[in-house]
Amino acid sequence: MNMENIAPDKEKEKASLNFIENIIEEDIRNNKNDGKVYTRFPPEPNGYLHIGHAKSICLNFGLAEKYNGKCNLRFDDTNPVKEETEYVESIMEDVHWLGFQWEGEPRYTSDYFDQLYEWAEMLIQKGKAYVDDQPAAVIAAQRGTPTSPGIESPYRNRTPEENLQLFREMRDGKYKDGEKVLRAKIDMSSPNMHMRDPVMYRILHEAHHRTGDKWCIYPMYDFAHGQSDYIEGITHSICTLEFEVHRPLYDWFLDQIATGSYRPRQIEFARLNLSYTVMSKRKLLELVEKKIVKGWDDPRMPTISGLRRRGYTPESIRNFADRVGVAKRDNVIDVALLEHSVREDLNKRARRYMVVLDPLKVVITNYPEGKTEMLETVNNPEDPDDGTREVPFSRELYIEKADFMENPPRKFFRLAPGREVRLKSAFIIKCDEVIKDEQGNITELRCTYDPETRSGTGAQRKVKGTLHWVSALHALDVEVRLYDRLFNDPDPAGHKDKDFKEFLNPDSLKVLQDCKAEPALQAARPGDHYQFQRLGYFTVDPDTTPGHPVFNRTVPLRDAWARMTKKK
Ligand code: ATP
Ligand code: MG
Repeated sequence: MNMENIAPDKEKEKASLNFIENIIEEDIRNNKNDGKVYTRFPPEPNGYLHIGHAKSICLNFGLAEKYNGKCNLRFDDTNPVKEETEYVESIMEDVHWLGFQWEGEPRYTSDYFDQLYEWAEMLIQKGKAYVDDQPAAVIAAQRGTPTSPGIESPYRNRTPEENLQLFREMRDGKYKDGEKVLRAKIDMSSPNMHMRDPVMYRILHEAHHRTGDKWCIYPMYDFAHGQSDYIEGITHSICTLEFEVHRPLYDWFLDQIATGSYRPRQIEFARLNLSYTVMSKRKLLELVEKKIVKGWDDPRMPTISGLRRRGYTPESIRNFADRVGVAKRDNVIDVALLEHSVREDLNKRARRYMVVLDPLKVVITNYPEGKTEMLETVNNPEDPDDGTREVPFSRELYIEKADFMENPPRKFFRLAPGREVRLKSAFIIKCDEVIKDEQGNITELRCTYDPETRSGTGAQRKVKGTLHWVSALHALDVEVRLYDRLFNDPDPAGHKDKDFKEFLNPDSLKVLQDCKAEPALQAARPGDHYQFQRLGYFTVDPDTTPGHPVFNRTVPLRDAWARMTKKK
C-alpha cells in the first residue's frame, strides 16, 4: 500500500508542474498583475458541496498557498430561486473542515449587484447592450446553430436613450418575468454561439436570500462572474472545461469595463468524475428530496458532509485531490482510488479494536467461572508511540458466526469441530462441541483453551488462523452500519434512455443491531476513527446516544486499488 505502487513517478511529478502552475509561474515571471496570485472558489449556494468541489477547493486554495497568494470564498448567488442560507453555511463548514481559510469575509456576487447594474447602464450608453422584447424561445431560435449564423433581433438597433429608459423600467418592476431581457450587442454571426448577443439580465420577481426584494432583475452568470473576479482583484479564475467556450465572452465583458492593465485570466481544467457516483447537484438534491438517502450528509453520498460522516478525513481527501492532479480532458477516476486514500490515512492513525458484528457464543469450559483477566494488546502496530491497552478475557466470549464452520472445506483456517485457532492477543482455543437449538441452528460452541499459549509470552506453537473476539461479560452492545456503493453501475448517469435511479444498489446500507464491542469503545466520540480488527475502518456516527453507540464503516480493509496497482 505504499506510494511506489500508485505513482512510481511521484518524485518526478513533484518536480514538474501541472499546466495551471506553468501558466501561473509564467505570469509571475512576466510580472503580470504585479506578479500577484489571487484565486477564488465560487460555489453556487444551491446544494451541498461534493467531492468534485473538494477537488476545486484543494486546487484554488492550494495554488494560493503555494504561491503566497490569497483565495476568496465567493457565493455565486445570482439565481434567487434555488439558493438558500442552509447551503451557504454548509459550504463554509466544509471548506474549513478541509483545512482551508478564505481571505477576509466570504464574498457574495449579490454584493456586486449595484456595480453590475452600473456597468450594464454603461454598456447601454456605449451602444453595446440593448433591451429585447422577444420571448426566450424566439431569442433561442434566432441564435442559429454552430454552423449557421444567427438572426439579428428587430430590437437590436434601439437607441441608447430608449434602451436606458426600458432597462430602468425593467429594474423598477414595470414588466413581468420574461417580458424583456437585456442583451449584449456583439455579433450574431460569430462562430462562437456565446458571442451571439448573449443575455445579460433577466426579469425575475423573486426575493433573494440576501438582497430581499430590492431587485427584480438579476444578472446572468456570464455577466457576473468575470466582473466579480475583477472587483475582487482575482488573477487566475480557475473553472471547469464547460466554460472554455465562454472565455471569449468573459474577456469581452472585461474589455468593456476595465480601466487599467489589470485583468483576471480564466483557466479551465477537467472536472472530476468518479466511477459509481453521480455528482450533479440536481441529482443529489433529487436523492435527498425523494428520501432515497437520509439527507445531504448520508454516508453514502459523495458530498463532503457525507464523506465526513462516513469517516473520511480531510487529509485523505486532500491526498486524493493531489493524486488525481489536474487534467485538460474529461476522464473518470476510479472510486477505488478515493477508498485507497482513506485507508492509507486511517492505517496510520486509527487504533485497532475488537468488535464482533454477528456474534456466536463460545464457552471456554476449562476457564474458571467468574474469573476475568486483562490481556495486553497493541493500540496501533503502525504507530509504536501509541502504546498498549488491556482487553478483558473471561469464560464466555463472542466470535463471528462466519468464523466457524461445522463442515469446513480444506482451506478454512478458522474454527471447526476439533480444530484450533488463536484468539487475537489471547490464547489458542480448540472447539470440542457444537450446541444447537431445536431447529438445528448453532447457538454456542464449547471450547477449551491452552493456558500456555498466552500471546506475547515467548516461543509458541503456531496455528493458521487468528480470530477477533469479545468477552461476553464485558461486551458493549453497539449498532454498526455497513455501507456499500450507492450505485451498482460504473456510470449511473451515463445511460441515454435510463434514469440514474434505476442503478441504485439495494444493498447500499446494512444496519446491524446486535454487535458486541470491547468495553474500551465506551469512550468513543463522534469523529473518532477506529480499525475494527479484520472488518475495516469505522467512525462514530452522530446518531450515537450515551446508551447506544452507533458506528459507521468507512471502508472495509480489502484494498482493490492497491491490489490492482500491485499486479501491474
Ligand atoms: P453542478 O453542475 O453539480 O450544479 P456546479 O459546477 O454548477 O455543479 P458550482 O457551485 O457552480 O457547481 O461549483 C463551484 C466550483 O466548483 C466551480 O468553480 C466549479 O467549476 C467547481 N466544480 C464543480 N464540480 C466540479 C467537479 N466535479 N470537479 C471539479 N470542480 C468542480
Ligand atoms: Mg455552476
